[in-house]
Amino acid sequence: MTVFCLAELDGDTVADASLRALTLARGLAAEEATGLACVVFRAPGTSVAPALAAYPDELATYGASDIYLVSGVDGYAPQAWARALAELLAAAGPTPDGPGHAPGTAGRAVVAAGTEHGNEVMAHLGALTGLPMTANCVAVSRAEAGALGIIRQRWAGLLLEEAVLDAPAALLTVATEAVLPELAPAPGPAVAHEVALSVSDADLVVRAVEAPAGAGGASLATARVVVGGGRGVGSAEGFASLEELAGLLGGAVGVSRVVTSEGWRPHSMQVGQTGTKITPDLYLACGISGAIQHFAGCAGAKHIIAINTDESAPMMTRADYAIVGDLHEVLPALIKALRARALGG
Ligand SMILES: Cc1cc2nc3c(=O)[nH]c(=O)nc-3n(C[C@H](O)[C@H](O)[C@H](O)COP(=O)(O)OP(=O)(O)OC[C@H]3O[C@@H](n4cnc5c(N)ncnc54)[C@H](O)[C@@H]3O)c2cc1C
Repeated sequence: MTVFCLAELDGDTVADASLRALTLARGLAAEEATGLACVVFRAPGTSVAPALAAYPDELATYGASDIYLVSGVDGYAPQAWARALAELLAAAGPTPDGPGHAPGTAGRAVVAAGTEHGNEVMAHLGALTGLPMTANCVAVSRAEAGALGIIRQRWAGLLLEEAVLDAPAALLTVATEAVLPELAPAPGPAVAHEVALSVSDADLVVRAVEAPAGAGGASLATARVVVGGGRGVGSAEGFASLEELAGLLGGAVGVSRVVTSEGWRPHSMQVGQTGTKITPDLYLACGISGAIQHFAGCAGAKHIIAINTDESAPMMTRADYAIVGDLHEVLPALIKALRARALGG
């Protein structure tokens, strides 16, 4: 098998962003008539055995034929993760010759979601292997012998570029807001493998040992509901009602850049061109004007509701539903109504 996909975890499940990457990787594997191998790094504090029991079923429904569960790295460590991927890629060996393949070229690829972690790991993988990395892909197919035809986003998704990638192996990240997760039409069983990685101290120079749920990153990128707050929230304390609402809806809080610049919330919560790209079912944008750089991060939301005192704000004109009003009045009313409904009142 020669197409690998990095599967990031979000709590106990595979992150939605990775299921989207897996969907694109499956199409590539089918074109190349190769297997699709998922690479999973176990979360800190979990034992290998239960994880091996759980993930193969979920990943197999998305078309994975093999699952490599890597131990030896406790938590997120971008260079160590890249080292593991480089070793798996090397162990897969050169691609057998076939129709349209130049020896050792087409058919070898590593795909990851275009999340902060996915992009960082793939950049390290490119540095370790000397292979070119192509970010923000929305479609990949075989071009002429040995090369891949790639459509990818540029300028925060405002432009689509057609490119040809001719490399011994393709390193790709996926613009997750542009690819929907789709189950495999005819999934088979997946074979699970354990990989014990021995890493050097140098590979662990950057390492996250804790990943609190809802702290941004993968959780924000994969949340089904995001409650967004902008300058209109007015202060760090003003976010209490947004956090309460997000809690009631089982979602995450996202913010505009003004909020991070003001120091009201950390950059890990920023949505936009220079923040996280979100793809929720519902984005509730409160006190956010909807600048193009913010919209670049939330355009993948299925539904947008905007709350703003200015009915002509771009976010209001682009939203599915627009509420003209002060968010400090609208949100408490919404929370009260949701609480009443939860109590059956
Ligand atoms: C290179 C570059 C990259 C950038 N990347 C990003 C990015 O990734 N993400 C991002 O968000 N921005 C980004 N920006 C910044 C972006 O251009 C905007 O400045 C920013 O998004 C505006 O944030 P805002 O909507 O919170 O603030 P504002 O534009 O000031 O809008 C505040 C809104 O709140 C409304 N409001 C005020 N009070 C209330 C109230 N009580 N109730 C309801 N509504 C109220 C106002 O009517 C207004 O529409 C980037 C800019 C550049 C140049």
